[in-house]
Amino acid sequence: MMPYRGRFAPSPTGPLHAGSLVAALASWLDAKAHHGQWWVRIEDTDGPRCPPGTDALILQQLAQCHLHPDAPVQWQSRRTHLYQAALDQLQRGGHIYPCTCSRKDIAAALTAQGWAAQRHAAAPYPGTCRHQPPATSQLAQGPHAWRFCVPSGVWHWHDRCMGAQSQDLALRVGDVVLRRADGVWAYQLAVVVDDAEQGITHVVRGQDLADNTPRQMALQQALGLATPIYMHTPLVLGADGEKLSKQNGAQALDTHDPLACLQAAATVLGLSAHPGPVAEALEYWVQQWSMVHSAGGSDQQAP
Ligand SMILES: [Zn+2]
Repeated sequence: MMPYRGRFAPSPTGPLHAGSLVAALASWLDAKAHHGQWWVRIEDTDGPRCPPGTDALILQQLAQCHLHPDAPVQWQSRRTHLYQAALDQLQRGGHIYPCTCSRKDIAAALTAQGWAAQRHAAAPYPGTCRHQPPATSQLAQGPHAWRFCVPSGVWHWHDRCMGAQSQDLALRVGDVVLRRADGVWAYQLAVVVDDAEQGITHVVRGQDLADNTPRQMALQQALGLATPIYMHTPLVLGADGEKLSKQNGAQALDTHDPLACLQAAATVLGLSAHPGPVAEALEYWVQQWSMVHSAGGSDQQAP
């Protein structure tokens, strides 16, 4: 058994908000409750969506909340050689194929297959370029994406918070883009490569990311990498009942009152109030967390 190592991996598209602090606190508490390490990784592969200085702001907010990483912070934008090596390995293994589909092509193929658009459900990729590979002349005309052939069958895994989970990856999601036509590395590949390369044993993150898990497990299997133990924590909901996010205008946290910020996050995680100061409150929540969340086994299964 490898020693516990967890991480918080924010995308620097905006400063920390109430929702992202919950994920940060949960991953920190779980690491401390296991006497493990807590690492921070900045997920900035999509450069244009990450305003300059936002990463520094997030790190400052974490520090103000007394959440200090146990290793130097890593930036995904400086690790693209690792993603290229993984893509090369997948190509050698026959796990990926080039895709020239535009959004319009995909929508047209889905309509032809009789797929009706549903709210809150992303359309699965219809498999166009898997079944009919683009001609060499077409590939030579310009850049194209690379897609991962997801295995068919239902994936089962155990989530320490949500319990038994399953997903028919091929039916619900379809083949996943690993590198976009514009050269941007997809979240799925970067996360899997980094978690493995950094020796992450436990992933604690928000429930909005839970349905990404089988995609990541399938990639881990294809790359011959270990699967971490997963825990997806509750989300902070906005007034409209939707998940609070940078996209629906969540306010940046004012971490000048770190105790108030942490208290709000701790409440979402089901922990009780503590009068402070911050260091004592964190210690109290580590004890509480240890009692509620035991080490947690893993019964992940590939189909
Ligand atoms: Zn395609």
